[in-house]
Amino acid sequence: MKDALGLYLHFPFCVKKCAYCDFLSAPAEEGVRRAYAKAMIAEIQAAGRRLAEEAPETRVDTVFLGGGTPSVMPADTLFSVFEALKQNFSIEEDAEITMEVNPGTLGEEMLSFIKARVNRVSVGLQGTHEEELRILGRIHSYEDFLSSFEALRMAGVRNLSVDLMSALPGQTEKMWEEDLIRVISQSPEHISAYSLIIEEGTPFYEAYARGAFSGRYALPDEETERRMYYRTKEILESSAYERYEISNYARAGFASRHNLRYWERRDYLGFGIGAASLFRHVRWNNTRDLKEYLSGDYARRGEERLSRKAEMEEFMFLGLRKAAGVSFSEFESCFGAAMTTVYGKILERHLEEGLLARKGERVFLTERGFDLANSVMAAYLFD
Ligand code: SF4
Repeated sequence: MKDALGLYLHFPFCVKKCAYCDFLSAPAEEGVRRAYAKAMIAEIQAAGRRLAEEAPETRVDTVFLGGGTPSVMPADTLFSVFEALKQNFSIEEDAEITMEVNPGTLGEEMLSFIKARVNRVSVGLQGTHEEELRILGRIHSYEDFLSSFEALRMAGVRNLSVDLMSALPGQTEKMWEEDLIRVISQSPEHISAYSLIIEEGTPFYEAYARGAFSGRYALPDEETERRMYYRTKEILESSAYERYEISNYARAGFASRHNLRYWERRDYLGFGIGAASLFRHVRWNNTRDLKEYLSGDYARRGEERLSRKAEMEEFMFLGLRKAAGVSFSEFESCFGAAMTTVYGKILERHLEEGLLARKGERVFLTERGFDLANSVMAAYLFD
């Protein structure tokens, strides 16, 4: 499995920009979206040729269409992009093919595309109360979500994920619990539950800075936010969703294979603006400039061969995000040194303090460790 490859395709278009969003995404006319798909096909062909020279045996076992909102692309352009993928890469029969969609963007043609090419769909819902959706600047209602969800099931998608967001302005604990319970009642196979982060440069940041999140729209205080986080785990686990990463829960067998690849540092190639790649210990990024990309500029930016030290750090701080933690033997086979030799003192301290636990040949975050995850993981950086 170690040598298989993941492909990430970034579609930076949305119907409208959400108030909290700092992703590389914006509305664009159909002509631009079509030109983008053409540019992406050319990039895929170039990458396929390069891979055929460097590592012809490489197979692809996950593909992820993210954004932005990939479901605002004209469906015929996505068929063409997939044709290019098929012609240029060896995609395994049982590869996980995920597509992110937003409620209200699934017409008949898009559903036909999904039915034909995609086997996992991640639906961006974020909240189930109209008030939450309005504040976030989402384009859809909860009813839209229900119809989209049903349409995806009718199209035969057996692996559905829903994104939810807590700690929103004006959101109470009760509202958050209702959000979780309503989503669970739809029985998706996977739920991602993130806390809102107010990012600089967004309308949310400006609203926050001018004190707009007060009174009825106050942000939950730290203690409430913590309780929401605990309730998330309790509620989801009581409905057979297991936490397999800090913010991700899945029913048995439905953890996202593509996202696990990032936490396990397995190779991936990214296509489209801003997309990152990691291949054979080298990391690089694509241009973030749409015009450059449309003009055929697929040059690698910031190319960096990762040092052994940097890879050790990543092994620990990405691996510890997973509930299953990291493996001693895998560390040793990657780096030719025992984890206890490299990180002996810090491991010992974290085990003693009850932040990590050890079972067999794995070490992982405890409940308390998850609470303090950022500072625990930061301790594995060398300086
Ligand atoms: S739909 Fe997603 S990517 Fe698009 S603006 Fe909203 S949060 Fe950002």
